[in-house]
Amino acid sequence: MPRPIHAHIDFDALKNNLRVARRATSSRIMAVIKANAYGHGLLRAAEALDEAEGFALLDVHDAVQLREAGSRQTLLLLEGFFSPEDLQLIAEYDLATVIHNVQQLTSLDAYPRRGKLQVWIKVNSGMNRLGFMPEEIPAVMERLKSHSAIRDVTLMTHFSHADEADGVAVQLEKFNGITNAYRAHCSTANSAALLRYPATHRDWVRPGLMLYGASPFPETSAQQLGLKPVMTLSSELISVREIKAGESVGYAGMFRAESGTRIGTVACGYADGYPRHAPTGTPILVNGQRTRTLGRVSMDMLGVDLSNIKDAKVGSRVVLWGEGLPVEEVAQAAGTISYELMCAIAARVPVGY
Ligand SMILES: *Cc1c(COP(=O)(O)O)cnc(C)c1O
Repeated sequence: MPRPIHAHIDFDALKNNLRVARRATSSRIMAVIKANAYGHGLLRAAEALDEAEGFALLDVHDAVQLREAGSRQTLLLLEGFFSPEDLQLIAEYDLATVIHNVQQLTSLDAYPRRGKLQVWIKVNSGMNRLGFMPEEIPAVMERLKSHSAIRDVTLMTHFSHADEADGVAVQLEKFNGITNAYRAHCSTANSAALLRYPATHRDWVRPGLMLYGASPFPETSAQQLGLKPVMTLSSELISVREIKAGESVGYAGMFRAESGTRIGTVACGYADGYPRHAPTGTPILVNGQRTRTLGRVSMDMLGVDLSNIKDAKVGSRVVLWGEGLPVEEVAQAAGTISYELMCAIAARVPVGY
């Protein structure tokens, strides 16, 4: 028997969440599947999200793989290309590429092929991560206009705090101020903007997180948004014992019992992608009942409180997050975000669909 840890990916939930996005907008949807589809498996996630008009990802070889698997959607490389050689693949496989810096523009100038490339020009409207400053855009557009290898230009930007109240206003105004002068397609919205700010939708929306069933907003649950959890990380109890008052659990004795306590050990640790910083008290389900973790998370195991779970025994099912326990709650307890937990699922965890 393999170790009982397992990540289950719910195809129907992915499809449901894409429908939620569809209902919220009339724009074309570019499903963001970077980071192995936020840990859900690139090809299988793309298969479930087949109704999307496009996919956004980072690695040119992943895009090629997707194309070879039969995807006919627009496939956008979010950080563009990293070497002039990548341009060859981009043309050959009809990929779309972000252009965010002068080096990429220069590589493009040296690229001789005609009438083929789809480029997305990234505007830095305030995130200060990637992109041209708004005042540079006229020159960039002029340079592209005379370029024979370009079929189509889209202008895009990314918001730094669309998940907060009125978190897009300043950036949107900057972006619109410069891009309204062009007839190019535009794209600005991530999940949070898609759900909350219709004025950001434009031609293409780019949801990631919401498709995987997590809420981008701290004060609104995924359930309230109609989203269903896609990934359920589960395992089993592999040990159950009673400890006496004063005894502790795990490395450094971070949890000490005040009275006799029934505890269990779960086959899941930080080497599986569970956050090591999740403190005592992080929510967890045993036999479908909510309880809390105890003590420090080890590499391959963690402790749980079984005081109120009378029927718990070796072999009882444990849900770390997913069905019945939103990943956002675990993330919040561990001082991180759901994105990080989903992406961090380790390669050694078997994934089932
Ligand atoms: C990751 C990413 C997205 C998706 O963001 P979510 O918050 O997951 O919806 C959209 N656009 C860009 C440029 C991204 O890097």
